[in-house]
Amino acid sequence: MTRRERAVLVADELSRIYPDARCLLDFGGVPHRLLLSTILSAQTTDDSVNRVTPLLWRAFPRLEDLASAQPGKVERIIHPLGFFRNKARSIIGAASWLVSRTGGRVPDTMEELLEIPGVGRKTANVVLGTIYGKPALIVDTHVRRLSLRMGFTVSEDPDRIEKDLEKLVPPERRTAFSHQMGFHGRRVCTARSPKCGSCTISSICPKKGLGQERPQPGAGRTPSK
Ligand code: SF4
Repeated sequence: MTRRERAVLVADELSRIYPDARCLLDFGGVPHRLLLSTILSAQTTDDSVNRVTPLLWRAFPRLEDLASAQPGKVERIIHPLGFFRNKARSIIGAASWLVSRTGGRVPDTMEELLEIPGVGRKTANVVLGTIYGKPALIVDTHVRRLSLRMGFTVSEDPDRIEKDLEKLVPPERRTAFSHQMGFHGRRVCTARSPKCGSCTISSICPKKGLGQERPQPGAGRTPSK
């Protein structure tokens, strides 16, 4: 079986078990809020972002409010998300860019999105796939890990992984495939203890059994009396 054939089989199975997989960031249908939330989601969970963003939107209801915000006020709100100084600088910079360059409209091309401060390919792909329905391979931590385990790439570099997946996943399936890989990564093929025994793609996964190989927490310790 070729890698491409295996990728299509994986995509078929993930579509079957996660038919409703989608972006988990709450953005209320407001495009710039999705862009800013995705910037905030670096190195943290979507749930954590969803707990913080209602406070952020309440403090800065309009994009213009955020564009002219005092960094310290933004930092205090987003502090629980980590890297709060960099993230505050990024979202204020992104808001300023949008206000001054497009009047608040979120661009619909990769090239233009990448001009926005703090926006990399992952954030751009989230916007393109979720807002504009364009083919988008969103290489987050889950897609990266699962792509390596399933042998779709040998690279750790997200840009390289995106290129490798482009060769394997048809354009019309890319956005859904990204979200479905994310769901599988959260629920089954987790970073620390993949549940290979209950994984329905284990028969075509080169890393099948990975979960059993890993020492369980506490294994090897002398039992306490
Ligand atoms: S078989 Fe194991 S390593 Fe492979 S995708 Fe499933 S959970 Fe992940």
